Amino acid sequence: MNRNNTYVSKLLWALIALLSFCTACADSPVTTQAEFKDAVKAASPGDTITMANGVWEDFEMVFTGSGTADKPITLTAETKGEVIISGVSNLRIAGEHLVVRDLVFRDGYTPTNEVISFRRTKAHLANHSRVTEVVIDHFNNPERNETDFWVMMYGQHNRFDHNHLEGKSNSGVTMAVRLNSEDSQNNHHRIDHNYFGPRPVLGSNGGETLRIGTSKYSLTNSFTVVENNYFDRCDGEVEIISNKSGKNIFRGNVFFESRGTLTLRHGNDNLIENNVFLGNGVDHTGGIRLINKRQTIRNNYLSGLKGYRFGGALVVMNGVPNSPINRYHQVEDSVIQNNTIIDSDHIELAAGSDDERSAVPLTTKVENNLIVNSTEVDSIAVHDDISGITFKGNVVDGVAKLPSETGLERKAIKLEKHSNGLFYPSGDPVTDAGVSRSFKVLQRDETGPAWYPKPGYAGRFDGGKVMQAEPGADQLYAALRGASAGDVIELQPGAYQEPRTLAIDFPVTIRGLSDGKSRPMVRFERTALFEIRDGGSLRLEGLDIDGSVAPDAYGNAVIRTSRYSMLGNYEVQVADVRVSNLNTNHSFNFLKVSRSTFADQIDIRNSEFADVSGHIIALEREIDDLGIYNGEYVQIQDSTFKNIAGAVANLYRGGTDESTFGPHFLLSGSSLDNVGHGKRNKTKASVYLLGVQVATLDGNTFRNSRPVRIVETVGEPVTTVRDNVYEATDAAVIGPIARN
Ligand code: CA
Repeated sequence: MNRNNTYVSKLLWALIALLSFCTACADSPVTTQAEFKDAVKAASPGDTITMANGVWEDFEMVFTGSGTADKPITLTAETKGEVIISGVSNLRIAGEHLVVRDLVFRDGYTPTNEVISFRRTKAHLANHSRVTEVVIDHFNNPERNETDFWVMMYGQHNRFDHNHLEGKSNSGVTMAVRLNSEDSQNNHHRIDHNYFGPRPVLGSNGGETLRIGTSKYSLTNSFTVVENNYFDRCDGEVEIISNKSGKNIFRGNVFFESRGTLTLRHGNDNLIENNVFLGNGVDHTGGIRLINKRQTIRNNYLSGLKGYRFGGALVVMNGVPNSPINRYHQVEDSVIQNNTIIDSDHIELAAGSDDERSAVPLTTKVENNLIVNSTEVDSIAVHDDISGITFKGNVVDGVAKLPSETGLERKAIKLEKHSNGLFYPSGDPVTDAGVSRSFKVLQRDETGPAWYPKPGYAGRFDGGKVMQAEPGADQLYAALRGASAGDVIELQPGAYQEPRTLAIDFPVTIRGLSDGKSRPMVRFERTALFEIRDGGSLRLEGLDIDGSVAPDAYGNAVIRTSRYSMLGNYEVQVADVRVSNLNTNHSFNFLKVSRSTFADQIDIRNSEFADVSGHIIALEREIDDLGIYNGEYVQIQDSTFKNIAGAVANLYRGGTDESTFGPHFLLSGSSLDNVGHGKRNKTKASVYLLGVQVATLDGNTFRNSRPVRIVETVGEPVTTVRDNVYEATDAAVIGPIARN
């Protein structure tokens, strides 16, 4: 090799080195918002923009560009799961063939309507673009009733797959597909292999997990495929999925212990097939609700569903004659075929029949379905004329009354678990009814990004350690400072006095120990003993609480919630607790709540309350009549109440929408003596329930008390008042009372 050649060769190597260095430049992580913007501006087809690991705070990301099918432009993380977008942040995507992957949105919220939007502006949408392996975890606006959306799909031919969306607890649909302009209709989006993690009960409308379309564009086709997604405890409201457009496919999804239904609310020609609904006996778990024309529901497996009325396992609605676009279109030309429905309490036909919804289902086939209850249930309800439904080849067992004399055959069915985890009739095939034996069941770990952990199933009070506290001043405070989520603090018998309000911002149990003669007695010097803050829940067991050293000020409470909006739902459990002398001044409540807080459950049992100047449980702060309320389940059992100036329970759920399951109320086996006579008790009742959806008062004794007042305002409330004894007390007053 001569000198010249060596020189050329060196030059060539230098060039190659330079080129590969530049390739590395393009791929080297951007570390600032300015670098990100420059990289987006400079990106050409085939480029990848990599965000450096770390926390990106307060970043409104805009990712635009034009890739090609072969050479998309990709936005990714240096390491999957180590790029955290937090603070006041969001992401807008617009252009062609863009891919976003591997990012985590956490510890923040969006300043706009959307966390991830498939558009930059109204006119600049994303098409042929994909968001994959992205996490949005509890990325909630701090004000619970402020509405926003986590993912909004616009444009056409986009894909949203293998993402993880968990813990939306402020108002607003988790994810929606919009059809609000021609550019977003006939969109052929794919939504697949996503993990839709737990969404707590919202306590108002606006808690859907997925919505496709809106009523306004509902006669437009979407062609969206929703496939192989896992809906894990998506409890927000009565609609898990609200379909409001045409020609969509819902296939191969699993709904695990999710309250609500997949609702074909508006739009025609949709297909629901090969989905699994597992209720496991959880309240309000539902299946499929059918409205409109030419819908097909086939080969779905529904088991252990407890929902009723519009929330049943299978609900075929009545329509409104000549319905406006936002009401109920008549069911026509639809097919319900080869579904398996096991141990599910409610199948509703011609549901919602009333003066307005009088258009009964037409030309609809119900064929080859298998309906089995292990104990006989009157599970099929017929609410109107169903002569427009043709039954054929259905097999039933354990159903008390059949909806048709033909097309439903009773057979003794023994179920057996198949290798796919589903149950089928055992032995020789006695029937072809029900889902196919080749049904493939989606597993939870096939969804979401593999690198992001999915939540467990433990109860909120479980999993902690047991700690001890001794009597004295400040001892409970000291113990709580050393405690963490799920812990149990055991109190030795004796007198405790707390000079501070005890902030509870994690689930904790405080358990009194008895030595046979005495047990712990807790007194408190501030306006409240406990304040539940975001993330907190409280269980009290086996102790006495005395209010006599509380300040001489009105409005004290044993337990109050934060005065600020709480995103996390909380729970209060009280068992074997004696409460007395809540009367240093007027309006001293046991439990007092603030607006924008929501209790999953308030549970009182085997407890005694005496000499209280306010209410025991007051969940009455949402007074705007917007359908918002303060708690889902209030249960009082086997307890006594004596000399209570206010009500034992004061629950208020105003508004007229039908989107919520609750509130629920139970009072059983309890005695009320001199309850409700205080002059500040505006309810004029010993128990006051307004807008409660399920109320049961059973086996109680009322003595010298104001009456129970139940005001039924919305939905079809289920009110049961039975076996109560009224001594010197007016009987319960129940009914729709005109309000001013
Ligand atoms: Ca709704």
